[in-house]
Amino acid sequence: MFQNVAANLKSASAFRVGETLNQKTIAEKVACTGVGLHTGEAVQMVLHPARPDSGIVFVRTDFPYPVEIPVRPDSISSTRLATTLGKGDATVSTVEHVLAALYALGIDNVRIEMDGPEVPVMDGSSAPFVHLLRAAGTFEQDCSRRVLKIRRPIEVRDGEKRIRLLPSRSFKVSYAVDFAHPLIGRQEIREWKIDAAHFEEEIAHARTFGFLHEVEALWKAGLARGGSFENTVVLDSHAVINREGLRWEDEFVRHKVLDLIGDLAVLGMPLQGHVCVERGGHAMHQKLIVAILENPSAWQIIEPATGDFLGLDVIPFGALVRATA
Ligand SMILES: [Zn+2]
Repeated sequence: MFQNVAANLKSASAFRVGETLNQKTIAEKVACTGVGLHTGEAVQMVLHPARPDSGIVFVRTDFPYPVEIPVRPDSISSTRLATTLGKGDATVSTVEHVLAALYALGIDNVRIEMDGPEVPVMDGSSAPFVHLLRAAGTFEQDCSRRVLKIRRPIEVRDGEKRIRLLPSRSFKVSYAVDFAHPLIGRQEIREWKIDAAHFEEEIAHARTFGFLHEVEALWKAGLARGGSFENTVVLDSHAVINREGLRWEDEFVRHKVLDLIGDLAVLGMPLQGHVCVERGGHAMHQKLIVAILENPSAWQIIEPATGDFLGLDVIPFGALVRATA
C-alpha cells in the first residue's frame, strides 16, 4: 500500500536555499552485541559508513544471501509492541531505539548488518547507541541533506488517541501520556529545545516500560523473552519493581518521545514540523506516517540552508484532551 505514496518521497524535487546542510555518515565501523527484547536471541549488530543518499539500511547477514531492508515507509511490516521492518521473509524488529539515536545525531547514511531478527535491546533506551555512534564519530558527505517540511496540518485519531502535525520552523514535539496508574498518571513534555546534545541528556536514557500483568501475558505468548529488569522498567499496580527505580519521574513520557523520533526516522529524512501527540504509541506513530504519505500536498521536500538548523524542539501541548488509559 505504501509503494505509490512512498515514491513521492523519492521523486519530489528539492528546493535549494543558499548554503545547504550536508548529509552525514559515521566515520568508522562500530559494533555491539546483545539480546532482542522479544526474541531473547543474541544478535551482533555492526554499523558501517554508507555512501550519500543510501539512507539507513538494515542488512540480515544470516540469510544465504545478505538481505537489505531499507528504512523506508514501505518496509514497515508490523507495529505490534515494537516497530518491525521487512523484505520478504527477512525482518528486523525493535528498530526504533537505534533509529532514534541516528536521527537525533543527524546521521543520514549507515549500513546496519545484523545476524538475527531483532536489534539488541541493550538497557531498553537509546543511550548505548548514542554512545556507540559517538565512539564512531561522524563524517560529513559532499551531498545536501533533504528535509520533509510540513506546509499544512495533518491529523490522525483513534478514539482518544490523537496526533496533529503542524507547520513549524523547526522539528518540535509535544507529547502527553495518561495512564490510570498512580505512579504515571498524566505526564507531558514541556518546552524543551533539543539538539543532539539535549537528546543525549534528556531523552536517550529513558527506558522501555511495561506493566507486570502485561509482561506476564507476553511471556505466556512467547514474547518479551529477552525482557528483564536490566532493560525494562516494570510496574506492578502501584510502584516500579526494578530495584534502582526510575531515571526521571517522567521517564515514561520521555521514552514515548524517544519511540516517536525513532518511528519518524522511517520517513527516511528529517521532519520539519510540530508533532503534537496525545496518548501515542507505535501504531499511532505509524498512522501518522501513512497520513503524511497520503497527503503529499501537505508537505514539500527542501534542502535547508545552514542557518536553519533543524534542532528538535519539544514544547507543551496544553490543548491535549485529557484521557485515561
Ligand atoms: Zn521504545
